[in-house]
Amino acid sequence: MTNDHVLLIWCGLMGLTVGSFLNVVVYRLPRKCMSICGARSACPKCRKMIPWYDNIPVVSYLLLRGRCSNCRAPISPRYMLVELLTGALFVALGWKYLVDWTGGGFVAETWPLFAIYAVYVSALIACTFIDVDLRIIPNEISLGGMALVPVISFFVPALQKQGLQAVVEGYVNFPWAGQFASLPWGENIAALSCSLLGLLFGGGLIYVVAVFGRIIFRKEAMGGGDLKLLAMIGAVAGWQGALVVFLLACFVGAILGVVVMLFTKDHYMPFGPYLALGAVAYIFVLPILVGLYDWYVGLLMGQA
Ligand SMILES: [Zn+2]
Repeated sequence: MTNDHVLLIWCGLMGLTVGSFLNVVVYRLPRKCMSICGARSACPKCRKMIPWYDNIPVVSYLLLRGRCSNCRAPISPRYMLVELLTGALFVALGWKYLVDWTGGGFVAETWPLFAIYAVYVSALIACTFIDVDLRIIPNEISLGGMALVPVISFFVPALQKQGLQAVVEGYVNFPWAGQFASLPWGENIAALSCSLLGLLFGGGLIYVVAVFGRIIFRKEAMGGGDLKLLAMIGAVAGWQGALVVFLLACFVGAILGVVVMLFTKDHYMPFGPYLALGAVAYIFVLPILVGLYDWYVGLLMGQA
């Protein structure tokens, strides 16, 4: 057990705890009558308050075999799934932003990025399951993100140099950073402008597609919730990121959507979960794929 492992275990435990909180957010945020931080969780069937020792992420679910300790009513395995998903993503974020794999130990410079992405990923998970349940994406998250992320980008400009920008040569998210270089806070202003451009591009893209969809297919393909969600994602990932996330969401949505329709006979397909999935893939999967591609090309060049 090195420090790196302790750090990643800590990330995992934090993710499980946050995931447990996200279950509460998913249930209570759209149902405005209940406060998120107030009363303790209760069994939806018998209304008995759940004591803390029956509310430990994953462990309690397994010990109680997925049933309420009082009335034995089955509890959806989704609660555990959300906890495990959040835990896994927090470990992946810790892997990427907290552990220094060259020398071992903790990378102090990138902890703000870990914190920002942890909140971002949590917001995406909450949006996904609220959209699945109620077919809405809450403004508290999407509009809140649209307002906050540009401000955060100003103070942490490194946020606008992540994702594909970090690995693709010449694919810099700061094409006009030089314009601001001579100004005080030049880099901060450049990052703010990248975030705002991503926000406008992401929202605008859904708007244009929705308008054309209405003309061509004569039905609502995407709604205002999706527009605000991709605007928030664009504020984090820049305009290039918003475009890639949108294309990924369409691609995966087209494949999975057909499967979901076959099994549920439900012809409504929420787009938010696919946008969220694309946004997470943009953080973790695409940089790895691009890295592998670069490595492969380097290998070919070496042999030639
Ligand atoms: Zn019960």
